[in-house]
Amino acid sequence: MKASISTISIVLLSVSLSISLVTSNDAVDFDNFLRCLPIHSNPLVPITDAILTPTNSSFEYIYQLRASNLRTLLSSTSRPLAIITALHPSHAQATVVCAKRHGFHLRIRSGGHDFEGLSYTSGVPFVILDMFNLHSIDVDIESETAWVQAGATTGELYYRIAEKSNVHGFPPLSALVDTLVEVAMGFL
Ligand SMILES: Cc1cc2nc3c(=O)[nH]c(=O)nc-3n(C[C@H](O)[C@H](O)[C@H](O)COP(=O)(O)OP(=O)(O)OC[C@H]3O[C@@H](n4cnc5c(N)ncnc54)[C@H](O)[C@@H]3O)c2cc1C
Repeated sequence: MKASISTISIVLLSVSLSISLVTSNDAVDFDNFLRCLPIHSNPLVPITDAILTPTNSSFEYIYQLRASNLRTLLSSTSRPLAIITALHPSHAQATVVCAKRHGFHLRIRSGGHDFEGLSYTSGVPFVILDMFNLHSIDVDIESETAWVQAGATTGELYYRIAEKSNVHGFPPLSALVDTLVEVAMGFL
């Protein structure tokens, strides 16, 4: 019996040692991830202004702002290591490059309307690339085309089209009555 208890202790000890090793490695990788971001983004729009970590007072607010499924807001749900609220397209590029390079799972969130929480939950350490600041819309009625950034909502797009035309529209979804202000264009 004694032998089996000490065997269990050794197993537990080695498990806890390997967990703390993984955790400290993750911390090193996360620091490297943060250092990687400015290297790969436009210095004229500092990406440091877009990075939120749990130490920022607005971190939890921004996390919850675009989380449509309230079940995912339980404190037991793992929060991301960081939310990159991209302010420039190069911030999105840098986040993808650096997350891949440093082995962090990436969740991309446009409107956060997906009820499975696919754009803001994960079972492994992860980073959210949040697109809500990238929501410019440029409608050219003459050529009947529009450039729309991923964080723009369908409501914003309809509004910008209606400003320029009474006859044009954009019908991407079948039943949008309750979703106009939330669903963003990144889902396309
Ligand atoms: C109440 C309700 C009603 C709905 N009604 C309809 C409907 O009538 N018709 C219909 O077609 N759908 C409907 N949907 C589904 C909804 O349109 C999808 O969930 C859509 O993906 C939401 O878009 P989003 O931008 O908010 O995506 P998010 O929730 O932000 O993301 C959805 C998925 O796309 C990925 N993603 C987001 N942005 C990007 C990006 N820029 N680049 C790459 N990947 C990205 C995310 O990682 C995630 O996996 C409904 C959903 C709900 C909850």
